[in-house]
Amino acid sequence: MPRPIYAIIHQDALAHNLAVVRKTVPKSKVFAVVKANAYGHGIERVYNALQSADGFALLDFDEAKRLRALGWQGSILLLEGIFSAQDLFDCVQYNLSFTLHSQHQIDWLFQHSQAAQFNVFLKMNSGMNRLGFAPEQYHAVWQQLKSCDKVHSITHMMHFSDADAERFGQNGIAHQLHIFEQITKDLAGEKSLSNSAAILRHAHLDTDFVRAGIMLYGSSPDFPHHGIQDWDLKPTMTLKSEIIAIQTLKPQDTVGYGSHFQAEKTMRIGIVACGYADGYQRISATGTPVLVNGQRSQTLGRISMDMLAVDLSHLENVGIGSEVVLWGKAQTGEILPIDEVAAMSGTIGYELMCAITNRVHFQIDQSSQT
Ligand SMILES: *Cc1c(COP(=O)(O)O)cnc(C)c1O
Repeated sequence: MPRPIYAIIHQDALAHNLAVVRKTVPKSKVFAVVKANAYGHGIERVYNALQSADGFALLDFDEAKRLRALGWQGSILLLEGIFSAQDLFDCVQYNLSFTLHSQHQIDWLFQHSQAAQFNVFLKMNSGMNRLGFAPEQYHAVWQQLKSCDKVHSITHMMHFSDADAERFGQNGIAHQLHIFEQITKDLAGEKSLSNSAAILRHAHLDTDFVRAGIMLYGSSPDFPHHGIQDWDLKPTMTLKSEIIAIQTLKPQDTVGYGSHFQAEKTMRIGIVACGYADGYQRISATGTPVLVNGQRSQTLGRISMDMLAVDLSHLENVGIGSEVVLWGKAQTGEILPIDEVAAMSGTIGYELMCAITNRVHFQIDQSSQT
C-alpha cells in the first residue's frame, strides 16, 4: 500500500465555485485562473469542471500548451505576457492572448515577422507598482498599439492591490479605480479588472472580464473577515492522511523535535503520515486544526519532515488507520477550511495549495454532493 497521504480534488466543488462567480458577476465573462498548475490542483484535474469558463488565464507557456492538449479551443490569457520576442511564435501557434505591461514587449510585437492578429490586454499600473504602464503613458501606448497591424483587439487591464481589505482605513480599491476610469473613459475597448476579492467584495464593478482564481479553489480571499461559508464556496482540495501510530503521554512528556509540546496530564496522541515534505507548513503552530474521523482536533509540537502529532484525548472511536484531514472535507462531510489552517501557519490558502509536493498522491473525486 502506498503511504496514505492524498490530495483529493473535488469536481463538484470546482463547478459549484465557478457557478458562484457567474452568479456574483452575471454580466462579466470569466477567465478561470489556472496559473501555478491550477493553484496546485493540477490543470488536467480541474479542466473538466471548469471548462464552461469563457477563458483560462495563466503564466507559463507549458501550461497553455497543456490546455490546448486537453482540447481547449477558447481564449487563453498570459497574465505576465511574453518573456522574449521568440514567445510570439508560440502565441501564434497556440492562439494565445497576452498582457502587454512594458515597452520592450511592444517592441517585440512590432518586430514580429509573421502575419498575426493578437488579442492583447494592455496593463495599466494604477497603483500596485508591479506591472503596467504609468497612467500618464497609457494613452500614447494605446495609440501606438492601435497603429500596429499585429493587434486585433486591445482590452484595458489593471490589478487591485487591496480588493480584499481596506487601505489606510479607506475603501481598498477606490484610489486605483479612480485613476483607471479617468484614463480609459475616452478609449474604446473592453475592460478587465477584478480578481476574486474584487468579484466578491466589489461585485458592482464595470468589468467585461473577471479573472477568478482563489475563489474557484474554495478559499476565501478576505479571510478572516469572511470565510468560505460566508461566500458560499466549497473546498476543492482535501489533504488527508491517516494515523500510523499512537502514543500515551504521561505528565511532563514532550512531543517531537525541540520538545515544543509538553503534556500537563496523561493524554493520547496520534502520529500522522504528513509532514513538511508533503507541503504541510513546518511553521504551523501547536493548535493548528485537523479533523480526525471528522472530529475537530489539533496538532501538537513541531511538524517533522514526514510526520506530525495530533491530540486524540477527547476523541472517540479513533485508532490506527483513522482518517486525518489536514484541510478540506472529511468522509463524514465535516469541513475544515484551508484558510483556518493557513492562518495558524502565518500564511494564506493560496500558498498551502501551491506547496503540495510530488510525493502526495492525487485523486479525483467525481461524486456529487447533491
Ligand atoms: C493571480 C491573478 C489573478 C487571480 O487572483 P485571485 O486572487 O486568485 O482571484 C487575477 N489577475 C491577475 C493579474 C493575477 O496574477
